[in-house]
Amino acid sequence: MNRPTLAQTQFLSVQDVASIITQTGVDATLRRLADYIEADYRRWQDFDKCARVASHSKDGVIELMPIADAKTYAFKYVNGHPKNTLVGLPTVMAFGVLADVDTGTPELLSELTLTTALRTAAMSAVAARALARPDSRSMALIGNGAQSEFQALAFHHLLGITDIRLYDTDPVATQKLVANLQHTALRLIVCNSIADAVRGADIVTTVTADKSNAAILTPALLEPGMHINGVGGDCPGKTELPPDVLRACAVFVQYEPQTRIEGDLQHLPADFAVTELWRVLNQQAPGRSSDAQITLFDSVGFALEDYSALRYLRDVARELKLGQRVSLIPDLADPKDLFSLIRPASLAPAGCRSMSAAEFTPSPRAPGGVSLIGVPTDVGAGTLGARMGPEALRVAGVAQAIAQFGIEVRDCGNLSGPANPWQDAVNGFRHLPEVVQWNQLLHDALYAELRAGRLPIMLGGDHCLGIGSISAVARHCRDTGKKLRVLWFDAHADFNTATLTPSGNIHGMPVACLCGQGPPELVGIGGHVPALNPRDLRQIGIRSVDAGEKRLVHDMGIEVFDMRYIDEMGMRHALEQALQGVDDDTHVHVSLD
Ligand code: NAD
Repeated sequence: MNRPTLAQTQFLSVQDVASIITQTGVDATLRRLADYIEADYRRWQDFDKCARVASHSKDGVIELMPIADAKTYAFKYVNGHPKNTLVGLPTVMAFGVLADVDTGTPELLSELTLTTALRTAAMSAVAARALARPDSRSMALIGNGAQSEFQALAFHHLLGITDIRLYDTDPVATQKLVANLQHTALRLIVCNSIADAVRGADIVTTVTADKSNAAILTPALLEPGMHINGVGGDCPGKTELPPDVLRACAVFVQYEPQTRIEGDLQHLPADFAVTELWRVLNQQAPGRSSDAQITLFDSVGFALEDYSALRYLRDVARELKLGQRVSLIPDLADPKDLFSLIRPASLAPAGCRSMSAAEFTPSPRAPGGVSLIGVPTDVGAGTLGARMGPEALRVAGVAQAIAQFGIEVRDCGNLSGPANPWQDAVNGFRHLPEVVQWNQLLHDALYAELRAGRLPIMLGGDHCLGIGSISAVARHCRDTGKKLRVLWFDAHADFNTATLTPSGNIHGMPVACLCGQGPPELVGIGGHVPALNPRDLRQIGIRSVDAGEKRLVHDMGIEVFDMRYIDEMGMRHALEQALQGVDDDTHVHVSLD
C-alpha cells in the first residue's frame, strides 16, 4: 500500500471559525449548514449511528458523540454545565474531529462551541421547514443565553420569521440578545412571562439551561397549529417539557434511541410514538398533518449534525485558506520506530542523520514536518570552522524557531563523513574524494526525507554541500513532476572550475557542478547531468565574482540579483523578481551561505 500523504491535521481555532462566519456572513453560513445537514439526513442509512456516550456528574454532563459513514468518521466532545455561567464559563463547550476511515488519520480538529450554536440553529430550522406552518411569522424564544441569537437568526433567514417574543428568567440575558440583534430586520419584543411570550406565537423555541425537570411550557399554553422547537431538554434529569405537553403534540426526533434517553421524551413510555425526522425529509413519513396540529421537534443534538458541520468547516476553510496544520500525530520515517521521537540525535541510525550549512527546501505548508540534518564539515572550504555550524544553529534554537510556527520538527542528528585531511589540491581540486563522500551521504539522507514527504533543512557545513542537497531536491522534483526554483543566497557565484580556481577549494564550485561543469563524481551525484537546469536558479546577494566565473554565469543564462541591484531596488523587489512564476506546483529550495 502506498503511504498516504503525510497530511498533518488541519486545525481550526475559535478565531478561524469566527473568521469563516464573518467572511461568509451569518445568513449564508446558516443556509449552507442547513443544506449540509439536510443532505446528510437524507442519506441516513449510510451512517453507523449510536446514542452519545455520556458521563454525568452532579452539575453537568460530558459527552462524546461519534458517527461514521464508509469514508469519514467524526466525533464531538461536548459538555453541558448550566451553572458554568456563574463562574464565567459557557454552559456548552465543544470541539470535534473528522478522520479518514481507511487509515484512521485525523484530518480536521476544530473548535465546535461556536459551531454547535450554528449547527443547532440550522438543525432547528431544517426541522421547522419540514414541520412548522409555512405561514409562520412569529416565534417565542424562551431562554436568551448563548444559543439564542443563532436560533433567532436561523428562523429569520431560513423560515421568514419576522417577530421574536423574548423571555428569560435573567433579564440581563434578554438585554444582551436585544443589543446583539438590534441592527437586524427582526422585531424583538421583550415579554414579562413565558405565557406572555408564547401567546399567539406560531413557533415556540425553548432553549433554557437548568439541570432539573422544568415545565417551561404547560398544556394550557399550547395553541392549535404551533410548532415547538424544544432545544434545552437534552439530558437525563434536564428537561423543559412535561409529559402532557408531548402527549398533545406530534413528536419528531433526530435519532430515537438517543432521544428516548435524553430528550423531553424520557418521561414517556417506550411505546409512545415518535417519528425520526430523516423519514419526513425523505418523504417516507408525513410531517404536520393539518394546520391545527401541534408539532414538536424534541431536539437533543445528534452526532450527524456535527459530522455535517465539520464537513462544512473543512470545505469552507479550504475555500478561504483559513486554519493551520498541526502536528497531532507522529510523522515517522519508519512507522515502527516510534522511539525515534525521543531518541537523542547522537544515536540516530544511518539513513536519518543531520547537517550544518543552512540549506533548506521550504514549502509554505511543510506538510509532513521538518527534518533537520546536520552536516558538520568544512572539507570544501579554505578555512576551518564551518564544521561547527550544525551545533551553532542548534544552540541558537533553529528547531524551536521553526516549531513556534506549529510545524513538527525532528532533529535527525548529524551525518558522519570523513575528516578534513587539510591537503593541497590534486588536479585542481582539494579533498575531492572527501567532498564526494559528504555530498553523496547528504544527497541520500535528504532524498530519503523528501520521499517520506518531509521538508529537510540541512545545517552545514561549507557551501560545497549545495551539490548533494540540490541534486537530491532536483531528483525529487523529477520524480514528482514538480517545477524547481533554487534561491542561492551567497556573496559568491560559486561557479569556479578547476581551471579557473587558484585554490581548488570546492566550496567555490557547487553551482558549476550542479550545472554540469565539474568532476563527474560530483556532477553525477543525483543520477542526472546536469542536476540543475540553470534557468531554475536565482543568485541573490552576489558581490564578488571572478572574471572567468562571470562569463560562465552569463553564458549559462543564470538570473543574478547582485548587491548593486539589491542596493538600488531593495531586497523585497529582488525577491519578488526571484520568485516570479513560482506557483503551487513549484518546489522552492533556499541555499544560504
Ligand atoms: P446558557 O446558560 O447560555 O443560556 C440558558 C438561558 O436559559 C439562561 O439565560 C438562563 O437564565 C435561561 N433560563 C434558565 N431557566 C429558565 C427558565 N425557567 N425560563 C426562562 N429562561 C430560563 O445556555 P445555552 O448555551 O444557551 O444553552 C441552552 C440550552 O440548550 C442548554 O440546556 C443546552 O444544554 C441546550 N443545548 C441543546 C442543543 C441541542 O442540540 N439540542 C445544543 C446546544 C445547547
